[in-house]
Amino acid sequence: MKDSNFLKENNARHLWHPMAHPADSMANPPAIITQGDGVHVTDVDGHRVVDAVGGLWNVNLGYSCEPVKQAIADQLEGLPYYSIFRGTSNDKVIELSYVLQDFFAPDGLTRAFFTSGGSDSVEVALKLARQYHRARGEAGRSKYISLLKGYHGTHFGGASVNGNEKFRHAYDPLLPGCVHVPGPYLYRNVFDATTAEDLAGKCLNMLEKTIAFEGAHTIAAFIMEPVQGAGGVIPPHPSFMPALREICDRHGILLIADEVITAFGRTGTETGSRHWGVQPDFACTAKAITNGYFPFGAVMIHARVAEVFETGGKIASVDTGYTYSGHPVGAAAALACLAETDRIKPWTNAGPRGAELKAGLEDLADRFDVIGDVRGEGLMCAIEFTSDRATKAAPDMAAVARFQKAAYEDGTMVRVSGPNAIFSPPLIVTSDDVQTILRSTEAGLRAM
Ligand code: PMP
Repeated sequence: MKDSNFLKENNARHLWHPMAHPADSMANPPAIITQGDGVHVTDVDGHRVVDAVGGLWNVNLGYSCEPVKQAIADQLEGLPYYSIFRGTSNDKVIELSYVLQDFFAPDGLTRAFFTSGGSDSVEVALKLARQYHRARGEAGRSKYISLLKGYHGTHFGGASVNGNEKFRHAYDPLLPGCVHVPGPYLYRNVFDATTAEDLAGKCLNMLEKTIAFEGAHTIAAFIMEPVQGAGGVIPPHPSFMPALREICDRHGILLIADEVITAFGRTGTETGSRHWGVQPDFACTAKAITNGYFPFGAVMIHARVAEVFETGGKIASVDTGYTYSGHPVGAAAALACLAETDRIKPWTNAGPRGAELKAGLEDLADRFDVIGDVRGEGLMCAIEFTSDRATKAAPDMAAVARFQKAAYEDGTMVRVSGPNAIFSPPLIVTSDDVQTILRSTEAGLRAM
């Protein structure tokens, strides 16, 4: 490994970070991570911390998942690459599609289309939704509806349905025909609703009005995360997604569940859709499908949608895909990861550990009034900072930076995104790890 000074200097000189200003890595040098073990990562200076970010919501089984590492090494030895474009396939990806349809059977999702990551998966689902309607003679259904605060990756389609202005303005004009409606963000909601259930009803009412205004016959799909992640961990009221499914059905609109974060256990259930008791038409997955060890994703397709394609004419040819769709090394990693997931059933830990974490954060909110809101579902949690509880004024971002630095020095990597501190540790964390995360959070709050 190059020495610490070389890495720090060249990071600042030659490397642009995603979601950051190019000058920022000079002003605020990043933690340079060089090792991972269990739920811990270690930086170039030898400082070892609990990774409460879980990589980027993806390292669900931690950094020492030997079967996945071994599967990657073995696959590189046997077949490091082959495409699955028309005319060829590979053994690992076939086996994976079989295992995935088994995993997603309760969600009704029986077919898999492979991608290289979450943004790719979203793009494929958006395209296939339009194509589905075209194949059924409804080419006029081209629009998408999505939720404010939703995050759906960075490609132009995903950026267009995304509901956070930060990711939009620099890249205008985005895709036409993308309509946004308010979502279940209770802390700051336009309806002045005071309960999550009331807000859910008001949002659904607004959705009905939006569909009527746009014309149901122009709308291809509604896309949502079962629990909004990057927007600040925003779980909907349990009534929200089932009612939304019913509205979509009534208007012939497909429901795309963006499960890039929520699939494979993070909410405390195998998938986010199952958590709310809903079968989507498409589920976009990536991240934890390989435990983050290989860039890979899958769009899972419901049997009733698949049938339209499989019995359709020329119009139903899937004319999209990636060089790395069905990459055999990614498929081998995913197979090993799913076998471990099936063995460990990490959702059974995510529920109770997530409840401990959320309760601990609520206790901190009682003691530190810089916390405006605490949210969470399973091992997705967030605290939203404010500089004034009464007015919910935005926090002082210099203080938020102090929070993150102090928490890190105390022993926990926490992600800060806008006014939120986000917690998405590996799903294998113990109660002791949760206590470490809470101790470091408190250290961060004191530093604010
Ligand atoms: N959808 C959701 C819900 C996500 O959280 C993300 C990534 N955080 C994406 C899509 C995009 O995935 P990727 O970064 O792998 O392209």
